[in-house]
Parts: sequence; structure tokens; C-alpha cells
Amino acid sequence: MQTKQAAADSSSSSNSTDTSSKNNKQSSTTSSCCVVHGPIIVGAGPSGLAVAATLRRHGVPFTVLERSDGIADLWTNRTYDRLRLHLPKVFCELPHVAFPDDFPSYPTKHDFLRYLRSYAAGFAVSPLFGRAVTRARFDAAAALWRVTAVSDDGAETEFVSRWLVVASGENAEVGGAQGEGEGEVHVLPREMFGGSTFGIAMKLLKWLPVKLVDRFLLLVASMVLGDTEKYGLKRPKLGPLEIKNITGKSPVLDVGAWSLIKSGNIKIVPEVESFNSNGARFVDGNEMAFDTVIFATGYRSNVPSWLKDGDLFTEDGKPKAQHPSNWRGPNGLYCVGFSGRGLLGVGADALRAAADIAGRWQEMVAAAAGAKISSVKRETGDWPWACKRAAALMALAAAALLLKQQQLLSWCSTDVYMWR
Ligand SMILES: Cc1cc2nc3c(=O)[nH]c(=O)nc-3n(C[C@H](O)[C@H](O)[C@H](O)COP(=O)(O)OP(=O)(O)OC[C@H]3O[C@@H](n4cnc5c(N)ncnc54)[C@H](O)[C@@H]3O)c2cc1C
Repeated sequence: MQTKQAAADSSSSSNSTDTSSKNNKQSSTTSSCCVVHGPIIVGAGPSGLAVAATLRRHGVPFTVLERSDGIADLWTNRTYDRLRLHLPKVFCELPHVAFPDDFPSYPTKHDFLRYLRSYAAGFAVSPLFGRAVTRARFDAAAALWRVTAVSDDGAETEFVSRWLVVASGENAEVGGAQGEGEGEVHVLPREMFGGSTFGIAMKLLKWLPVKLVDRFLLLVASMVLGDTEKYGLKRPKLGPLEIKNITGKSPVLDVGAWSLIKSGNIKIVPEVESFNSNGARFVDGNEMAFDTVIFATGYRSNVPSWLKDGDLFTEDGKPKAQHPSNWRGPNGLYCVGFSGRGLLGVGADALRAAADIAGRWQEMVAAAAGAKISSVKRETGDWPWACKRAAALMALAAAALLLKQQQLLSWCSTDVYMWR
């Protein structure tokens, strides 16, 4: 027996999700199925919000599934209180909405969260919270994505759609130490010559090759910070921008740690070989006692644990293709926020993915309307006036949409180098 449940659509249109229960149990084993109109978006961080907002502007319905109980879980629950955006605010805006003028150049975590909440409200993005996606597979026979989400009470729901947008973040799960090479890092001053280092690098990259800009950055860094190797921080052989482009690994933008290292308040030690009951043993054979050990070994993508088809991601949960071709896979699969280019990359991916989905959505709508028109034509032997008008309106709407997409795409076509 099938029962209708409350609409689970996270967009404001109430009729865009059809939920039918596969069985009637309301216990933790309840399993139901939602046929979703428009794409399923996994994750309600900046990436999920940006793609949802852009789809809203295109008039495409969507459903956002978020495992936590609010938007931007990373920023809300997994960051320290005095955190600020690492880059100036002009490089961190999501599509369509600038930061308020009264925000500081480097907004605090709380400013950023206020911005994200108002962004979500402004575009009427209401994710389904407490829905952790545990599996997504492409049903080739039906040409549909089947996405399983588990809610807090253990109930499973299968969401079904033609399109799936992966926006679960590059930092979804706690990572681990990755062994050799971890000791090498580029430290750069956050600002130089009165401007942001990132902004200056962006400008230089318009005229100069990456290697030359890297040399310039390292020269200024050595003048401002001194020799970081003298204090135990080995610099990688490749420059900071080159490494960012190849591996996605960001340089550290110094906001005060360097002076503590220089003054001896923070000591750099060699790589840890093992831990024992007193503390740690290092690769040079020395041991030191510690009261507390904090792992600051980073986060990683969780995509491989739940995305079973699509050939878009590597085993590490990174896109297989290089930016800027990494945002779309086969069979209606998209990813937003996996270009290793921070919020600027998030915006560019979101605009591209949403424009592509909107094009396909309009085609689908037009094809459905066309089928209705031709069935009327068959019945009457000629097109009635109302059908001719509907067809003309649809052609106009498609042309307007195409024009809009072109504008949006030209906005994000500039290739940028990015670090977080
Ligand atoms: C400390 C820090 C500072 C940063 N500062 C900057 C900066 O100044 N400028 C800049 O450009 N970039 C910065 N970044 C990088 C980047 O912009 C942020 O990581 C940003 O939050 C990425 O957004 P996202 O939506 O892709 O991922 P996230 O913010 O991680 O959001 C992903 C969402 O998906 C949800 N999710 C994950 N898995 C599932 C699942 N299986 N089912 C359902 N939901 C799921 C998560 O709960 C989360 O809400 C910073 C990153 C960090 C960690």
C-alpha cells in the first residue's frame, strides 16, 4: 500500500517532491521513496547553498540533503571561535550576493555564518536536515539517481532524481597523517606591500607565469619572515602556487604563528614516528613527554564511502579531471566545491553546474509540453491558437535562458589560481 507523506522538497514549491512509503511502519526501520523534481544536492555548506541559489534563479526546483541539523556544519561546529576568513572578503563571496559593506576585510567566522544564513533565507533554500547520504547509485535502466539518506532516528529514505549534485565538501571527514613530506610547508605573510598576498598574486598571474610569481612570493616571504628552514619548517621544492595547482595543498598564510615560532614559544620538532605512554618518539630517534596531543592532520572528502557510480571521483574522493573540467560527470552527475580553489572555486562550479542543469530541465519541460501539444494537434488535425502561443512563449523563454547562461558562464570563465 502506498501513502503520501509530507512533501520533502527543500525548495519552496510544495508540489515538487512526491513521497511514497514503501511500507507503513513509522519505526526506525521505516523506508520510503521520494521522487524529486529537479536535482538532489548533497550538502548544505557554501557549495550546496550556492548551487541551490543559482538553480532558484533559473526557476529549477531542488532538494538539499544535509546530515547535520543546520547549514554550514563545518563553519558552525568544527571551527574555532576566533577564526576569520583567510582571504579578503572580495574573494569569498558566493554568487549573486556581495558581503555587506560593514563587514571587515577578513570577516569573522560569525560574520560568515550570518552571511550564509541570510543567503539561504534570501533564496528560500530550506535543506532537509538530519539526512546523511549513505549511498548513491545510478539506475541505468531508469536513467535515474537513487540516493539513500538515513535520518537521525535511523529511518531510510530513497530520493530519486535525474540529477545529483555532490556538494559534501573537501573536508567532510577527519583525515589522518599522510606520512612523508608532511613536514614541508610554505609559509607566506598574509599581506605584503599593504595588500593581500593572495590579491597581489592574482594580479601578477595575469601577466606572469606561475613559476615567476612563485619566485616573487618566496623572495618577499624571505624578506618579511626570514629563513623558515632555520626554525625547522622545510619549504617544498615547488613554489606555493605550483603546489596548489598540482596537489590542491595550500600555503599557510601567517596571522601570528610565525612570530611565536621565532620567539621559541612554539617549537617545531621532526616528524612523529610513534606515540608512547609519555609522549612521542620522532624520526630522529629523540623522545619528548607531552600532556596532550592534538591531531591537526586535516580533513578529507567522504564521497568514496557513498557515491557508487559516476566515474567522477578518484579513490581519495577528489575529482578525476582537472579544473575547470571537473564539475560534471556522466548521467546527470555534478560536483561543486572540489576544485581546491576555495570559495571562488565554489562559486564558479555552482554557476556552471546550475546553468547546465537548468538547460536540461528546460529541455525536459519543453519536451513534456511539446508532447502535449502534438497530441492536441493529432486530435484536432491542426494547432489550436493556444498551442501556437504556448510554443512561441516557450521558444522565447528558452532563448532568454540561453542568453542568461552565456552571461553567467562568461562571468566564471576566468581561470583562477586559488588557495584557502
Ligand atoms: C578553517 C577553514 C578556513 C577556510 N577559509 C577560507 C577562506 O578564507 N576563503 C576561501 O575561499 N576558502 C576557505 N576555506 C575553504 C572552503 O571555502 C571551505 O572549506 C568551505 O566551507 C567549503 O564549502 P563546501 O560547501 O564545499 O564544504 P563544507 O563547508 O564542508 O560543507 C559540506 C556540507 O555537506 C555536509 N555533508 C557531508 N557529507 C554528507 C553526507 N554524506 N550526507 C549529507 N550531508 C553531508 C556537511 O555536513 C556540510 O554541511 C576554508 C576552509 C577551512 C576548513
